[in-house]
Amino acid sequence: VKQTNIRNFSIIAHIDHGKSTLADRIIEKTGLLSTRQMQDQILDSMDLERERGITIKLKNVRLKYKAKDGEEYILNLIDTPGHVDFNYEVSRSLAACEGALLIVDASQGIEAQTLANVYLALEQDLEIIPVINKIDLPNARPEEVKKEIGDIIGIDAEDAPLISAKEGINIEAVLEEIVKKVPAPTGDKNAPLKALIFDSYYDSYKGVVAYIRVFEGAIKPGMEIRMMSTNKHYEVTEVGVTTSKQNPVDSLEAGDVGYVVASIKNVKDARVGDTITDHHNPTDTPLPGYKKVVPMVYCGIYPAEGEDFNSVRDALEKLQVNDASLVFEPETSAALGFGFRCGFLGLLHMEIIQERLEREFDLNIVTTAPSVIYKVKKKTGEELYIQNPTNLPKETEVEYMEEPIVSASIMTPTEYVGAVMELCQNRRGVFHNMEYLEETRVTLHYDLPLNEVIYDFFDALKSRTRGYASLDYELKGYQQSDLVKLDILINGELVDAFSIIVHRDKAYERGRSIAEKLKDEIPRHQFAIPIQAAIGSKIIARETVKALRKDVLAKCYGGDVTRKKKLLEKQKEGKRRMRQIGSVEVPQGAFLAVLKYD
Ligand code: GDP
Ligand code: MG
Repeated sequence: VKQTNIRNFSIIAHIDHGKSTLADRIIEKTGLLSTRQMQDQILDSMDLERERGITIKLKNVRLKYKAKDGEEYILNLIDTPGHVDFNYEVSRSLAACEGALLIVDASQGIEAQTLANVYLALEQDLEIIPVINKIDLPNARPEEVKKEIGDIIGIDAEDAPLISAKEGINIEAVLEEIVKKVPAPTGDKNAPLKALIFDSYYDSYKGVVAYIRVFEGAIKPGMEIRMMSTNKHYEVTEVGVTTSKQNPVDSLEAGDVGYVVASIKNVKDARVGDTITDHHNPTDTPLPGYKKVVPMVYCGIYPAEGEDFNSVRDALEKLQVNDASLVFEPETSAALGFGFRCGFLGLLHMEIIQERLEREFDLNIVTTAPSVIYKVKKKTGEELYIQNPTNLPKETEVEYMEEPIVSASIMTPTEYVGAVMELCQNRRGVFHNMEYLEETRVTLHYDLPLNEVIYDFFDALKSRTRGYASLDYELKGYQQSDLVKLDILINGELVDAFSIIVHRDKAYERGRSIAEKLKDEIPRHQFAIPIQAAIGSKIIARETVKALRKDVLAKCYGGDVTRKKKLLEKQKEGKRRMRQIGSVEVPQGAFLAVLKYD
């Protein structure tokens, strides 16, 4: 194909504005699959993604479109994940494109992730094409939204297609815009190979498959390629393009998007953002922007009672094969035994992995409270990075501690400004400024400690603003902070899995609230169980689970057999989900209690 007839583009949008639905329509319209063949949402193929309405792994699809000018075009649609945890992957997939469709929901207007994505697209110098979606909704206000796009983003949206992705209205206008406005790729086919990896996954037959965008040169089977970040080299066994399936081709050339298979064993060796070049005729400089992604949030993952350590490890290994950003290493907990310390890009990433372990691998696991990475300067001058509260040195040995700070942008209707500010205040936020986007909407800029954001901040924000506020944040750096380790003792025994690191001013409140939550979570035993929160040897809160003879059948006189049976089964089920800590049975759910703030 001629370069001039190729269009490489992404779709960017705030979550739920209709990105996946539009992708489906575009695929349908270009005749790749009939509606009946088409899965509900082809680009979000993982069940979990579909349920949560998010896209975790980006993919691409190659489409053919006969435009009104009579020419046939190749459209490479590159899907991007839609969540702040995956911003780096978003930026790499955008880097593979020349243009982006900016979808804005006509009833919602611009939201935080709309802006965050626009900034990412602008950083890549992409042509941004606004598209107004959901015009079928009774509360759609397309004219206002057009104006908003002009005022807030500074892109003229006067002629933006007004569409309904759901009803399939005006999809062709979008395709024509792509052909007319997205620049064709340029780049010398005869130069040394320069290709960007924007996604990779493990296939049990082929090994690692890397999705690439070729910027210069060409790649074909038999060639020896080199990963520029590691200098490792591999022989190419297959290159191809993805339509409804993977189709091998003879070569991929400058401007093309496709996949490459090359005897690579681990996705870690085909890192998103890395540049592939010709091992025997390498390019001088890699493509810009490569970053090795580092986990931001850690937690312990332990097999639940009766569950096997090895099966948890096998499952984590399997997940890691397809997820280079998941890290884990074995650790032991006095309370939970043998398990793993796992690192994630963010909270959502963590929740996804937990859910996949439970659903896809059918495992019962216990997870400990998430933690960020703290910097600890010891009096000896030694500097440590701590992501497990248990490893924190004694207070007397510590010179000072630092914690990660994020700069957060919160977009909200003006009526909730007070509520949002109060929340940020409660979470030790430092206010920077407030920008009016329009009369009724503002963006608040705060610096927030990441350790406050990872405890249900997002939920709290949503509930205080009836779901109207949206959040975007990025790591800003480290800051010195007065932090302490808060321990929980159950029946006099320190349960390391409950320990968290908190700001000293918050310790009392958190200690009390965790003790109260645990009191509700832990069932009565035949003896009284004290629950204590402590900093060092100082007890700061105390609750007691009163003693009770546990006899669930006592409640159902009258001999309702089925009910009795049910209760017994329930009790059995409940038992399986318990952790024995000393002589106390603690339900698995209790480990989540420490996560919740209010
Ligand atoms: P994404 O998160 O941006 O990928 O959004 P989805 O494509 O998953 O859409 C989110 C929700 O909006 C789904 O329930 C869609 O059915 C719905 N939706 C998408 N496009 C339209 C539209 O044009 N009109 C209406 N009424 N709903 C739509
Ligand atoms: Mg989606």
